[in-house]
Amino acid sequence: MTQNTVKQQASIQGVGLHSGKQITLTIKPAPENCGIAFVRTDIDDLKTDNLIPARWDLVSDTRMCTYVSNADGVGVGTIEHLMSALRGCNIDNAILELDGAEVPIMDGSALPFVEMIKNAGIEQQEQSRKVIRILKDVSVEKDGKRVKLSPADTASFCGEIEFDHPQIGKQAFETTLLNGNFMHDIAECRTFGFYHEGEYLRSIGLAQGASLDNAIVLDREKIMNPEGLRCEREFIRHKLLDAIGDLYLAGAPIQGRYDGFKAGHEMNNEILHALFADKDAYEIVDA
Ligand SMILES: [Zn+2]
Repeated sequence: MTQNTVKQQASIQGVGLHSGKQITLTIKPAPENCGIAFVRTDIDDLKTDNLIPARWDLVSDTRMCTYVSNADGVGVGTIEHLMSALRGCNIDNAILELDGAEVPIMDGSALPFVEMIKNAGIEQQEQSRKVIRILKDVSVEKDGKRVKLSPADTASFCGEIEFDHPQIGKQAFETTLLNGNFMHDIAECRTFGFYHEGEYLRSIGLAQGASLDNAIVLDREKIMNPEGLRCEREFIRHKLLDAIGDLYLAGAPIQGRYDGFKAGHEMNNEILHALFADKDAYEIVDA
């Protein structure tokens, strides 16, 4: 299997979840072995590096979203849904230009990014794709949250969440990144938040762009969005969407099984640190 980039550039516009600002995102082709990298086009002073490779070791904040930043302190946040779409569409190399510090939240799912990639077209390159093959179990655990990577022939993602909320409760889901499963099982699933937490976040200057158009919002009993859910178990499926995106910061697709229990962006980054700290746990091979 060979590497892929996009055929031509394509753009989308939308609001930043935290800044509330209008942001344009443009995907552009990139050469083989370049990987995925962000460019902040709004930073044009020549002394500041505006390139941020989408890499696990540049993740500097995971509290509200996954945020990557370079040595000059230039960063991009809320990258996880876009990274998930890139992984789901098998894009190995691309430049993502942004005129702000956040990927636009769009509808809170990966679908608008998949559409942007489809508009740009997928271009097959010549060199073979590298994958990170898991050779033994690696796990991290913290405050009752767990993530484990283990050997498997395919890339499979399995997750479980437990929320003390009548609309969520305990949910589990499993998918394999084969045969269009990403599109079928994962891409449309939206992020979610609780109305009372949103009020607090807005009061401290975050979540300025949050609305019923870009998240499933829950009050203490019900789902506030008039359209309801897009699919059954949308909550856990979105957690897997996040995990697929966060794990793609490994720099190549992971061939192995992901198991997440109450896991979020922080644990998804911790597992990559644990994986790359153990040279016996993986090998990089041609797909
Ligand atoms: Zn998410």
